[in-house]
Amino acid sequence: MTDKLHPNADVAIIGGGVIGLTIARALAHRGAGDICLIERNGLGQEASFAAAGMLAPQAEADSQDDFFELACRSRDLYPNFAASLRDETGIDIELDTTGTLYLALTNHDLVDIEKRYEWQTAAGLAVEKLTPSQAQVLEPCINENVLGALRFPLDLQVENRRLLSALTNSVVNLGVSLLSGTTVESLRIEKDRVTGVVTSRGIINSPSVVIAAGTWSSFIRFSAGVEKPELVIEPVRGQMISFDARPQVTRHVIYSPRGYIVPRQDGRLLAGSTSERAGFAKQVTAGGINTILKNALEISPSVAALPIVDTWAGLRPRAPDNLPVLGPCVEIGGLFYATGHYRNGILLAPVTGELITEAVVAGVTSPLLGPFSPSRFDLVRA
Ligand SMILES: Cc1cc2nc3c(=O)[nH]c(=O)nc-3n(C[C@H](O)[C@H](O)[C@H](O)COP(=O)(O)OP(=O)(O)OC[C@H]3O[C@@H](n4cnc5c(N)ncnc54)[C@H](O)[C@@H]3O)c2cc1C
Repeated sequence: MTDKLHPNADVAIIGGGVIGLTIARALAHRGAGDICLIERNGLGQEASFAAAGMLAPQAEADSQDDFFELACRSRDLYPNFAASLRDETGIDIELDTTGTLYLALTNHDLVDIEKRYEWQTAAGLAVEKLTPSQAQVLEPCINENVLGALRFPLDLQVENRRLLSALTNSVVNLGVSLLSGTTVESLRIEKDRVTGVVTSRGIINSPSVVIAAGTWSSFIRFSAGVEKPELVIEPVRGQMISFDARPQVTRHVIYSPRGYIVPRQDGRLLAGSTSERAGFAKQVTAGGINTILKNALEISPSVAALPIVDTWAGLRPRAPDNLPVLGPCVEIGGLFYATGHYRNGILLAPVTGELITEAVVAGVTSPLLGPFSPSRFDLVRA
């Protein structure tokens, strides 16, 4: 699906994962002109493909901070996002509203979930506390030694691979130019303004460029001597296992503090994950699989009988403070960052698309983006 390279675009987006695709679609909906999305391999084959698709800001949150607000806003955009993608493309991204269960399996876990319950209840958020027997009635597959559980009725999940297909179809229909198999090597910058990108297939002139290159975002070169934020995005490897679970063992996504299981409509049950600093080696390892199996079996002994049908790994893009990097680059006009989504890029895609589009098209930087600005990093000379 590689379009012909046109030498001029109104906006060039680097990276065809969930973030680049969602931004391309949002820009096209806003009539932002000629939009060109550049992907060095195939669209949606990296972290966005590897993800578990959980949209669960409440399940793991320990406080009501700026990140939590952004994540909840994005989760709440999902019903409309899913419906409009379905209208445009006919693809159902399988938005599941059953909710998330979070289990306490040790006394330490119990203290943690009690705290989470207290602050979320005090903040007026939807969360239910379940006794062990209530949790087991709800999901009979769970470990009989469960000590307590929380249910987050508003947390969601999607089939992220169907989401990638829907986004790709949508941007094609909207006339976005898609250049797969094309690597952006460097940015062209003149007088503190971006003027385009140098790719493996030639130059594309563009007054606006969005870096959405996931864990490879720091490799894009800048013109020598330019002042830029010192952005270091690192890969954090996550491994996953998929089981054949027909009939399904659970309706809810179920977490413990150590792992999670995620039921899919087609009868797969996903289990994850690991968090490893292993460079760019996207491998599945014996140690990784061992950890995931141990944690999945702790959640539900029923997993022991399920055939394993697939394993994979992906690289989460992580900034030094674990927070996403979103918004305009103050030092270089026309340059925008949308990267560092780490463990939450599927969840944060709709809000990223909406707010980056507002920044590119209208020059308006939402206050929601303030805490995630690339300006929080020191400046260096390229
Ligand atoms: C195992 C695992 C489970 C996860 N589970 C969840 C979950 O349940 N919920 C959730 O919200 N998130 C989850 N995540 C995190 C989520 O997958 C990521 O945050 C998200 O996919 C990041 O999207 P992205 O588009 O920035 O990156 P990617 O999907 O990695 O896309 C970046 C793209 O940029 C391209 N690129 C890089 N450099 C260049 C260049 N120079 N020129 C052209 N193209 C370039 C790459 O080829 C790639 O296709 C999980 C991640 C993993 C690994």
